[in-house]
Amino acid sequence: MEADDNRAVSALFRVFGTSDQAPKADRVEPTRHRGMHRGELIFLATLVPITLLVAVGNELVRWLGWGVGLLLTIPASFIALNLLAVISAGKNSTRKWQRVLLLFVIWGYARYQVGGVVSLLAWIWFLLAALNGLAAGLLLLGKSVRLGLQQPNLSASKPFHGTGLMIWRGSLLLIAHLGIIVAGFWIGWRWVMVAGAILDLGCLGVVLNPSSQWLGQVIRRRSREGILITIDDGPDPKDTPRILDLLDTYQAKAIFFMIGEKVRRHPELAREVLRRGHEIGNHTMTHPQATFWCAGPWRTRREIVACQKLIEETTGFTPKWFRAPVGHRNWFTHPVAAALGLQVMGWTRRGFDAIGNDASKVLERIIPDLTDRDIVLVHEATPIAEEVMEGLLRALANQHHGLSDPESGPSEKVCDS
Ligand SMILES: [Zn+2]
Repeated sequence: MEADDNRAVSALFRVFGTSDQAPKADRVEPTRHRGMHRGELIFLATLVPITLLVAVGNELVRWLGWGVGLLLTIPASFIALNLLAVISAGKNSTRKWQRVLLLFVIWGYARYQVGGVVSLLAWIWFLLAALNGLAAGLLLLGKSVRLGLQQPNLSASKPFHGTGLMIWRGSLLLIAHLGIIVAGFWIGWRWVMVAGAILDLGCLGVVLNPSSQWLGQVIRRRSREGILITIDDGPDPKDTPRILDLLDTYQAKAIFFMIGEKVRRHPELAREVLRRGHEIGNHTMTHPQATFWCAGPWRTRREIVACQKLIEETTGFTPKWFRAPVGHRNWFTHPVAAALGLQVMGWTRRGFDAIGNDASKVLERIIPDLTDRDIVLVHEATPIAEEVMEGLLRALANQHHGLSDPESGPSEKVCDS
């Protein structure tokens, strides 16, 4: 399967097959987007210009009357086609196709009452979007069932048990959307749009809220006293050694949520973190921060499983904690994490140190009113990582806060409550 197999929009065409060679299961491949199926291209290359011609012609005739309107239709459509190419420019043809479809569905929604050919084309785009969604859902379900039947061993010693829950969650989403589409026959398509938007906004809210417990349990408090420091996005050749020295100076322990690809590049740093008595958590293989929230079940699994395996192979240590990129989980994160014995960890304090460049502002957001059971999130591989860590540790020492016990790893003392 392709690394970007969570793309939903071109699923309709993928039903008819594609010439792409699938990478071997569970290997993390950089997303390559090798483009669309040939039939997909022919279909779009025909339908897109026709729609533009009709849409532009319809508007021009309305504004300028038949004579001038028709005269200007072809040059204006040509310009519109070129504009569309600019608007839909993406890294690859799949992205372009997604944007074109979205634009036409919006256009169709605004225009479908006009009647005649405009209305017909609007319906074609609606239908296309609906069929695509349906095809994507069916492909998802089909693959889930197939994988569930095979029960593949992702790690030789560790069979994968999360598939059932993933199928259930995928099916739930599919059934909810199908239900709304079916209801559209009775209540009207305008309401289908509204109901679908409400459903998806709800799903989005749950996914984008890092502390939402709807998708599964997120650890947000320590069970025992002692502030827990968690450091995301390493290991980093510049920051990790300095942070380790600072932690030693203040006799503090931390959990380093590491990105698999960085562990592959700097295995010695990951081992050093463990040697100095800290713990490593799983922070996905490639840290897809912009897209993890909408990743499908396979990509989610590849990201988490590959990182877990890499950390195990590199360090001999099996992470117990998972943290999603920027805290955005998706519908399949918890089943995958649970199957690997990982608990999902959130935080109670963060200073947005990965965004701003002012360490004092970052510390102002974190330090005031820290309580002894807070989980603090900071990042490495930022220009201010060292400054933030030093400021944080100094402030905690001055406030006489309990820090992680150097005798034992921080993990035993963390639980939700
Ligand atoms: Zn991160």
